[in-house]
Amino acid sequence: MGDILVCVSKTFYIETFGCQMNAHDSEKVIGTLEQQGYARVQDEDAAGLILYNTCSIRDKAEQKVFHRLNEYKKLQGEGKKFAVLGCVAQQEGQKIFEKAPYVSMVAGSASYRNLPEMLRRLEAGEERITGLDDRQTELTFETEFTARSNPHRGYITIIEGCDKFCAYCVVPYTRGKERSRTAASVLVEARKMVDLGFTEIQFLGQNVNSYRDPSGRMSFAELLVAVGELPGIRRVRFTTSHPRDFTRDIVQAIDDTPTLCDHIHLPVQSGSTAVLQAMAREYTREWYLERMNWIKAAKRDISITSDMIVGFPGETDADFEETITLVGEVKYDAVFAFKFSPRPNTPAVTMADSIPDEVKTERLRILMDRQREIQRKHYGRHLGEVQEVMVESYNPSRNQVVGRSTQNKTVNFSTAQIVQARPPIGSYLPVRITQTLPNCLVGEAIEDAEALPVASVQRASDFVVLN
Ligand code: SAM
Ligand code: SF4
Repeated sequence: MGDILVCVSKTFYIETFGCQMNAHDSEKVIGTLEQQGYARVQDEDAAGLILYNTCSIRDKAEQKVFHRLNEYKKLQGEGKKFAVLGCVAQQEGQKIFEKAPYVSMVAGSASYRNLPEMLRRLEAGEERITGLDDRQTELTFETEFTARSNPHRGYITIIEGCDKFCAYCVVPYTRGKERSRTAASVLVEARKMVDLGFTEIQFLGQNVNSYRDPSGRMSFAELLVAVGELPGIRRVRFTTSHPRDFTRDIVQAIDDTPTLCDHIHLPVQSGSTAVLQAMAREYTREWYLERMNWIKAAKRDISITSDMIVGFPGETDADFEETITLVGEVKYDAVFAFKFSPRPNTPAVTMADSIPDEVKTERLRILMDRQREIQRKHYGRHLGEVQEVMVESYNPSRNQVVGRSTQNKTVNFSTAQIVQARPPIGSYLPVRITQTLPNCLVGEAIEDAEALPVASVQRASDFVVLN
């Protein structure tokens, strides 16, 4: 009987909110829990332990989490335990126990390396376990038990935390100080992934290019190349980069290393130097545009994407117009645009000249309309190209395979193979682009080339052909 009870209570359900960093943190948390003898289940009702890995970057994230916790409050009577992880946990801290007394564990991401110990305390019946005091740590969360959800494409965190303190952002307060892993440990993890069959690796960090190898062995660009040169690796991506630490050797590395993907996400946030200054981004519009010119001067067609915030306190119509002219000048392949959202503890919360919500909404609409127009035209450059596409899924309603190009664009394509056998998920196929839409490309697999062994299918940039 005792054994059965232990077994039931050692099941967990996890729900993840927010960005890729959180998604990957959850993969590490899941791996750690499984290694500690827990089994993952797919709904709250079947779980002994319910975890919410939260995000507080925008909106009223904390309210969403409390709402979610409230919904499942009734389950506490069934002996279930609750844990709140991530940015809301770090931001709200002990207050979570007051608002939701049935929560037993509250831990920010800088404490995850202590999870096995926290889990043991939870099992021993402790009721208020916290992991909140680690924001000044020099240590990173490295585990060999990451439960990656995709067997072909996986993340590696190379740098944690952030020291930039942009005026609007909670990350430095919730994820702690900036700390990099050693290049050696990143390479060990990458090699293990290759041995397991992964062909695409994505470096993750709030600012990956602020990476500083603690052993001093490699720069960020050198680490990219070293992973890109591992036999078996076909694609290396990285996100997010910060303009302040963006160096020319990154562009050179992409030009020189075929496996490094043709994509750089370099968030600008605003096109106005005055707003950038108020945001404490520490670069100007011209400085950013110079980096754009480096990227555009590359031999390869490197896709550029960005994040932008509209309605930052004090943003005038003229400032906003500078954002609009900047998107026209850069011609991004995608822009992730957000209305400024005041976040607790950040300097921007107390700034004067706040912008009314309807003005933010209108600016967001204008920006997205302009960007859609740009993408509609700019994606046209791919018409007739042959692109290497990694197969991700199959859309039965359209009878199309869905994949991703080196530029991280979605490519929907048809292939004669679908009739016989669908191309396997994770395989790479050359696809001729026959139609371009504002958010994706449409094409047809090149049937002759499909007979080639995977290793001999070249990357798109090696065999681009124009009609
Ligand atoms: N480290 C990256 C950088 O500096 O560009 C960004 C990381 S942040 C998790 C992702 C994006 O969320 C930011 O680029 C920014 O556009 C947006 N963001 C962050 N704080 C925000 C806020 N308070 N209101 C609106 N958008 C915000
Ligand atoms: Fe936030 Fe700025 Fe750090 Fe990016 S660089 S995570 S926006 S503080």
